[in-house]
Amino acid sequence: MDYSCVECGACCASFRVDFHPSDGEAQGGRVPEGLYDELNVSIARMRGTDDAQPRCRALRGRIGEQVSCFIYDERPDPCREFEAGSEACLRARRRHGLAEVA
Ligand code: SF4
Ligand code: SF4
Repeated sequence: MDYSCVECGACCASFRVDFHPSDGEAQGGRVPEGLYDELNVSIARMRGTDDAQPRCRALRGRIGEQVSCFIYDERPDPCREFEAGSEACLRARRRHGLAEVA
């Protein structure tokens, strides 16, 4: 299976993206301030990912056509660990009406 993430972006508009606040810029980490909220001492969350229609504030472009993450080099760990072709990937793609095989 071959998935082209730059023509998709469904996962960035499907799931909550949580990470440890120490990975946020406010605490010396890499994720830029203004794009996440610190919910408590152990959880920070990318803004927009917990909305009724989730969409990370760092996502640019149109889902299913052309997208980019404008903090790609500074994105949090869950984004780095997310696997194209995984069950969660396929779930996100289905949610956005995208074919399972791109
Ligand atoms: S849902 Fe899958 S194919 Fe789409 S951007 Fe995310 S990892 Fe890539
Ligand atoms: S930080 Fe980038 S890769 Fe992670 S959910 Fe947001 S747009 Fe997607």
